[in-house]
Amino acid sequence: MALEKGIYRAFEDVVGPENISENPAILDSYAWTGVPQERETPGTAEEGETEFVRFAPRFEAVLLPKETAEVQAIVKLCNRCGIKFKAFSTGFIFGNIPASAGVIQIDLRRMNRILEINEKNMYAVVEPYVISAQLQAELMKRGLNCNITGAGSHTSALPLAAFWGTGHMGQTVSIGERNLLAVEWVTPEGEVVRMGSLGSSGEWFCGDGPGPSLRGIIRGSITPMGGMGIYTKAATKIYYWPGPSRFPIEGVSPHYAPREIPPGFMIRYFSFPSMDKLGEAMRKIGESEIAFEIMGFPASMLAANMATSNQENIENFERLRKQVQGPGFIIIVVGNSPGEFEYKKRVLQHIMDETAGKSLEIMEDTKIGGAQLWRLIRVTASLRETFRATGDHHGMFPGHNTFAPVVRLAQKYAEVKAELIHKGLLLDDGADAFPWTEEHGFLAHAEVLYRYAASHESLKGIQYLNEQLVKLALKEPAGVPFFVTGDQLHDIFGPQTSDYHLWLRKIKKAFDPHGASDSFGYITAEE
Ligand SMILES: Cc1cc2nc3c(=O)[nH]c(=O)nc-3n(C[C@H](O)[C@H](O)[C@H](O)COP(=O)(O)OP(=O)(O)OC[C@H]3O[C@@H](n4cnc5c(N)ncnc54)[C@H](O)[C@@H]3O)c2cc1C
Repeated sequence: MALEKGIYRAFEDVVGPENISENPAILDSYAWTGVPQERETPGTAEEGETEFVRFAPRFEAVLLPKETAEVQAIVKLCNRCGIKFKAFSTGFIFGNIPASAGVIQIDLRRMNRILEINEKNMYAVVEPYVISAQLQAELMKRGLNCNITGAGSHTSALPLAAFWGTGHMGQTVSIGERNLLAVEWVTPEGEVVRMGSLGSSGEWFCGDGPGPSLRGIIRGSITPMGGMGIYTKAATKIYYWPGPSRFPIEGVSPHYAPREIPPGFMIRYFSFPSMDKLGEAMRKIGESEIAFEIMGFPASMLAANMATSNQENIENFERLRKQVQGPGFIIIVVGNSPGEFEYKKRVLQHIMDETAGKSLEIMEDTKIGGAQLWRLIRVTASLRETFRATGDHHGMFPGHNTFAPVVRLAQKYAEVKAELIHKGLLLDDGADAFPWTEEHGFLAHAEVLYRYAASHESLKGIQYLNEQLVKLALKEPAGVPFFVTGDQLHDIFGPQTSDYHLWLRKIKKAFDPHGASDSFGYITAEE
């Protein structure tokens, strides 16, 4: 279905002819998801041949507004004409899929300004197409830092675009939902709401007032994935950065690394005889507040991260898996003075002695350690870890909770994953779950990644895996898992979580009576 000519023209009047397109080649570039889906090859019904497609259905058109007033005008037009819309910041996640026909994509890439860095009150205000690498580079020049989703610093710095906003530096810069301050929001009906202190004083320092507070409406532990209007500006908390104003990078991609590890910084990888010992070490490190960054990291991810080719990845992993004694983590320790640095290192050594933590020698090498340090602070590691080995990946995550329930569930996930590795359906990467804590142990997160090469059997295996994971998460709850998006999963998890799904539907209905804000990845108002 193409947009009616009159409607297309009305949209064109808002953004100008050069900022709207219904060219199929352009629309297909937005429809690419990278996630393989099996379907019958057209024209071969009798033989029943199948092929893998990695494209979602096309949007009807893509529009590129340059400011809030244009976003508002588009949203209002959508409501009037029975068209749906979906926002797009950098488009790194497959959530940009339309739930049905009749949806336009609103690509916010022209809204790309850092509006304010408030050093005194420690916040930054960004538009949706500011990427984290850009914001962090500006902040570091001022001795400041920000949270960056683990997906990578190429994604939006808007704390409302990231799906969850968990990242490598969660120990010292927390996570998405806890960093969100004031917001400018174009509601699904096209009202502009300025939330928190922005609504009363025009300032960005607080998300909850004085002024209207709707933070719990516009995001929970995950964002509504485009199902609740469009966030056009938002403020995020920022934090002290104890390092250099820029990393002295040398070399040419893919062989590049900082010239040196900055003074007062140390990076190590420790492996443990058991997950219990790793958990004890993380708890003690949290209690003593000595870590700048700590992240559970299986040897397979470290191998991928260090590699500059697939072959190197395989060789690295074979070597590293023999050098670790069990589950492990990467830790970065930073001192604000030589005395503090020495103290933190001594405390770390003491904890490692108590928990039988073994340092991986290769990480003590300045060049290798320095490259990892840079990757984990500038957050460029995820793509290598997820896509390098096989091209396709998937992952499972409990929700946010305290350490013990999160790890218990993640380990059960890893056991199911091991079954599939045994059947040869997933890459054998050691089947590890990898947990880490945030805010010095206040919260915890864990992941189980699996990598595979698309085949009929492997996709069936993934489907089986997903079903088992839902069952496990219901049996041993550790917060509503992050993968719970869309009607079907909310209906499964809602009844055992205070019937939140009924409230979410009421919220959707109240704020989006025409269902204009596309609900793929969120929830519809339908009972
Ligand atoms: C390999 C990989 C690793 C990942 N690792 C992590 C991780 O470690 N931690 C983590 O938290 N996440 C992770 N993610 C998910 C990640 O959060 C998102 O991919 C990314 O942060 C989204 O930012 P984006 O700018 O690309 O948003 P987009 O992909 O543009 O959008 C994401 C969703 O938010 C909606 N949206 C975007 N902008 C707006 C807006 N301005 N207003 C309203 N709705 C909007 C979109 O409609 C879409 O549904 C990972 C994803 C991948 C593919």
